[in-house]
Amino acid sequence: MIHRIKGTQDLLPGEIEKWQYLEQKARDIFARYGYMEIRTPIFEETELFVRSIGQETDIVQKEMYTFADKSKKSLTLRPEGTAPVVRACIENNLLAGSGTLKLFYMGPMFRYERPQKGRYRQFYQIGAEVLGPDNPLIDVEVMEMLVRFLEELEIHPYQLHINSIGCPGCRPKYLKVLRAEITHALPQLCADCNRRASTNPLRVLDCKVETDQAHINALPASLDYLCEDCRTHFAVVQRFLNNRDIHYSVNSRLVRGLDYYEKTTFEITSDLLGAQNALLGGGRYNGLSESLGGPAISGFGFALGEERFILALPKEDYFWMRPEVYLAPLGPACFDFAVTLASQLRRNEIRAFLEFGDKSLKSQLRHADKLRIPFALIFGTEELHRKEIQCKNMRDGTQVTIRAEVSEIIRAIRGDTAR
Ligand SMILES: [Zn+2]
Ligand SMILES: [Zn+2]
Repeated sequence: MIHRIKGTQDLLPGEIEKWQYLEQKARDIFARYGYMEIRTPIFEETELFVRSIGQETDIVQKEMYTFADKSKKSLTLRPEGTAPVVRACIENNLLAGSGTLKLFYMGPMFRYERPQKGRYRQFYQIGAEVLGPDNPLIDVEVMEMLVRFLEELEIHPYQLHINSIGCPGCRPKYLKVLRAEITHALPQLCADCNRRASTNPLRVLDCKVETDQAHINALPASLDYLCEDCRTHFAVVQRFLNNRDIHYSVNSRLVRGLDYYEKTTFEITSDLLGAQNALLGGGRYNGLSESLGGPAISGFGFALGEERFILALPKEDYFWMRPEVYLAPLGPACFDFAVTLASQLRRNEIRAFLEFGDKSLKSQLRHADKLRIPFALIFGTEELHRKEIQCKNMRDGTQVTIRAEVSEIIRAIRGDTAR
């Protein structure tokens, strides 16, 4: 018996429909906002992630699946999607001369983290990137799109948090003050904070250790050190969020774990998730393209963990894409009819499941129930002789006799199979 790797999961029928629903909703809404899909390889040169995410980050230091292939090249399973997308845009010359580029992606990412509820070592992300001008209206449009996404998925309550962490122009001044203040507080802070104080002081603001909170709340905020350009950018973001009635709170401790972010950072949390309450996050990354050898072009993007969304989805029966009707022929004498009927239903875009084994009615209905198929069509030789068929609603147990015709069957099963 071989088992799956720790921190991975098998997504089985019965559960996978939620994922399909989530992904379909994402495709649908992103398309409305003008995004197109991009698929990049699952592994890349290690250097791509070291250079973009940053040598001193937890991801690069501790969490990457890095290995040498047979030619001794160092490869890494992608731990996130932004760097590969930007790399692909540069390599395929998508950034040259055109206007704003809007791309989304979905797929597995890999990080060697401690597995816990909603967190896996192979996890699925949906994300989008806008490459183009450094315009705060882009930041707002992305947040609006995500609010739309949550509304349509009926995930609530949720909270939008925003911050600005400055740019390479103004951040050094802030980091200097922040470092000095952290140094004073170091004896009171946890081991992680002590380690990050010198390597990545912004991440200290991220610390969730209870006893650190009072000290961290007293640290200076990047918002008080923004340059004119960053200040204006952040003011426009807030003005347009207000104009659109999108509720948010400014959270000066909201930094992102990746080095390439600047100016706007944002996060959406939900109390539905408990202590680890982040649903998604993102921000602006103006220097990334250049640092990867591309043109000086700005970016804004986000990524969401599908596992967390699945936890937050309403507890409904997502039988989207599952078979909608189960054909239960009573004995081999009815198979001719069953095969023809299944074929006709499928040509009419009905998702039909036909049992091929010679099973009793009881065991066929049990099977239909297990597959959570909402309707079963039951027919024996006697019914077929009368050109009739029994249509059983598997959810409420009611059963009606209808004529054994496709149009009649469609009428009986459509109407309350929406979703
Ligand atoms: Zn600035
Ligand atoms: Zn700490």
